[in-house]
Amino acid sequence: MPELTPRLEIRDLCRSFAGVEVVRNVSLSVMPGQVTCLLGPSGCGKSTTLRMIAGVETQDRGSILMDGKVLADDRQFTPPEARRIGLMFQDFALFPHLSVAENVAFGLDGPKAQQRARVEELLARVEMSRHIDNYPHHLSGGEQQRVALARALAPRPRVMLMDEPFSGLDNRLRDEIRDQTLDVLKDEGTAVLLVTHEPDEAMRMADEIALMRGGEILQQGAPYNIYNAPRDKFAVAFFSDIN
Ligand code: ADP
Ligand code: MG
Repeated sequence: MPELTPRLEIRDLCRSFAGVEVVRNVSLSVMPGQVTCLLGPSGCGKSTTLRMIAGVETQDRGSILMDGKVLADDRQFTPPEARRIGLMFQDFALFPHLSVAENVAFGLDGPKAQQRARVEELLARVEMSRHIDNYPHHLSGGEQQRVALARALAPRPRVMLMDEPFSGLDNRLRDEIRDQTLDVLKDEGTAVLLVTHEPDEAMRMADEIALMRGGEILQQGAPYNIYNAPRDKFAVAFFSDIN
């Protein structure tokens, strides 16, 4: 059997701020159509790792590869807009002056009819078709989140980076949006790197978990392997408040 090439692979990524190394030798990969969760407490370096992958922050050392090709290393730097990476953040607001359709079409180019077809396809997928001509302020938080997902997916990113995208939603809504988001992402075949500090979110959504502490990856594996065989006291304590 041929080895599958990861959609996204990072090797030995490092980054310091003012002499403090906040990301140290972080390596991980995401296979096509899979969700890898970068899980760890606040301040452990998750967002910095994601920003380097997006290309909005530079790494001090290490490399970032997509489908086996270098996006960034010691010699090369592909600018963010050329990386085919989609982004979703908790406070990644929709453009208030644009309709739902215009928001989703924002990153698209090519013939208008083709753009419209893609917008309609995605809004149907996130069950927001009836809001196509509405404006963001008419939508609930959950609805805005679904439109944000459609917008991020519209240009067919190869990889989706999500930084705590569900933290702003109330509990009941959050489970529903998480499940729907996962369905849509799996349908599109996008590789997802999801950052969270909540172990239950990682357990629910990940194919693979990378547990991070103090800038380093402590343990990596399938959710139930990590849950059942935490490597040290930190991992035990971190997973102990799962409900
Ligand atoms: P997380 O997302 O896991 O909460 P971050 O990656 O945001 O962690 O931050 C990791 C550490 O790096 C924190 O101590 C944070 O204060 C520091 N840090 C992040 N970005 C910068 C920056 N631009 N300048 C200085 N320190 C930063
Ligand atoms: Mg963060």
